[in-house]
Amino acid sequence: MSAPAPADCLFCRIVRGEIPAKVVFEDERLFAFEDVRPMAPVHFLIVPKAHFASLNEVPEGAGALLGEILFRAREIARKKGIGGTGYRIVLNTAGDAGQTVFHIHFHILGGRHLEWPPG
Ligand code: AMP
Ligand code: ZN
Repeated sequence: MSAPAPADCLFCRIVRGEIPAKVVFEDERLFAFEDVRPMAPVHFLIVPKAHFASLNEVPEGAGALLGEILFRAREIARKKGIGGTGYRIVLNTAGDAGQTVFHIHFHILGGRHLEWPPG
């Protein structure tokens, strides 16, 4: 269902353990790790292990996978103590949103008040 991963995809390489990361969660389908440039006291990323360049490439049949990401995000946020204080889930898609890594990833940010609207 997912596209063949480009050999040099950064997040595929992190999932494969070729590039070190601070892993916060892993199961058969998902991988979560701390963002290397945290924008908030809590800032981690969740990716599907399967390679999709962005939300634009995810087929509708993969809805369960997307749902699972949200539930794992919620669970990890709770474990990190920000379930009640609040957190933001960000999915940057393509150029205007500022996507820089083309393996779909959800940012989970919290631990401080987050401004709205974003810049
Ligand atoms: P985006 O701008 O939505 O594509 O976000 C890419 C995110 O990946 C940024 O927040 C980066 O700080 C983060 N990032 C880039 N390289 C790494 C890495 N090696 N380990 C962890 N996070 C990374
Ligand atoms: Zn990838």
